[in-house]
Amino acid sequence: MTLLSQQVSGFIENSSWIRKMFESGIALKKQYGADAVCDFSLGNPDVPAPALVGDILRDLADKCEEPFTFGYMPNGGFPWARQIIADLVKKEQGVEVSGDDCLISCGAAGAMNAFFRAVMEPGDEVVGVAPYFVEYGFYTSNHQVTFKPAKSKPDTFELDIDSIEAAMTPKTRGVIINSPNNPTGAVYTKEEITSLAALLDAKSREYGRPIFLISDEPYRFLAFDGVEVPSVLPLYDYAVVLSSFSKNLSLAGERVGYVCLSPRMPERGKLMAGLMLTNRILGFVNPPVIGQHLLKAALTAQVDAGIYAKRRDVMARVLTEAGYDFLMPKGAFYFFPKAPGGDDVAFCQRLMEEKVLAVPGTGFGGPGYFRLTFCVGEEVIERAAEGFRKANR
Ligand code: PLP
Repeated sequence: MTLLSQQVSGFIENSSWIRKMFESGIALKKQYGADAVCDFSLGNPDVPAPALVGDILRDLADKCEEPFTFGYMPNGGFPWARQIIADLVKKEQGVEVSGDDCLISCGAAGAMNAFFRAVMEPGDEVVGVAPYFVEYGFYTSNHQVTFKPAKSKPDTFELDIDSIEAAMTPKTRGVIINSPNNPTGAVYTKEEITSLAALLDAKSREYGRPIFLISDEPYRFLAFDGVEVPSVLPLYDYAVVLSSFSKNLSLAGERVGYVCLSPRMPERGKLMAGLMLTNRILGFVNPPVIGQHLLKAALTAQVDAGIYAKRRDVMARVLTEAGYDFLMPKGAFYFFPKAPGGDDVAFCQRLMEEKVLAVPGTGFGGPGYFRLTFCVGEEVIERAAEGFRKANR
């Protein structure tokens, strides 16, 4: 007797490489002890949340006895919290947006699902840039939508406009970009995004309906060496930004994120009404109360990005000394080096023999590479140096 749907059984069977590595990591740690294993598999921010988050939480505790402190609120979030999102977007991206154009959801993941549910017809397609965040395919399939990867430029991981165009069909309803990028660390320039916007403009006209430019930006705060992360909102009428406080405030488990519509988008009030509904009927109902209070912190604080910058330097040194070929990440907290020998799955197995956990690029649509996250202390990176060296002999 089958309990699971065929689709979900299939998903479990082909479960993501990140999960597989995570589970192998648990087994290795059990066998050898946690300190013996260098785990670079999961992008779970370990840098503590800013102290202000604690202050806000303590203030909120004083309101526990007031009625409705934890009650339902409008499905898009508290009006004051939506205004904070608008203020933040303005501060980060230099664009004037209204709180009415921002919807708060359960992380960027929840925001993306609410958005897909609101705009996609079954059978539609979403193009994403490979290598990509592995969950995109699951989120599209939740809405009977197909995820179609389009390759980025070899070695540099820049946007390849021709390859995006080749992946588009009359069913294309959206193109997702993620910058700073997980897993490659790429940050797209204003020129690249402008070219993409021109393509989407032309294709929207050709196919007779808007194609959304979906900009997934939870790593916007983390760009190194003064690299600029350009705003997509002023560049295209049908641009939307999805983001969260999972990384910049280290609140990944608190599930608070948002979608913000371009102030240039015609009839965006109708889309927002749809988003309010889909946020509710997907079962999120509304974003978490505590998370909305905590996101106030983002107006004046964020995690110490200097910690990530230092780790990036240490990781770059360790990988260089061990003879790896990699591009220095411009943003986010991942390295995406070439797998020696070319077989990323076999190479990650080899690293595992050295008790070093990495994720094969195959899991991100980027075979031949492997991903390392630097959500771990410098001492772990240093400790892995010998394993990296031995595996590359
Ligand atoms: N998009 C990218 C590129 C991510 O790396 C992640 C999480 O790692 C998400 C979206 C989802 O983030 P959230 O915790 O806000 O749902």
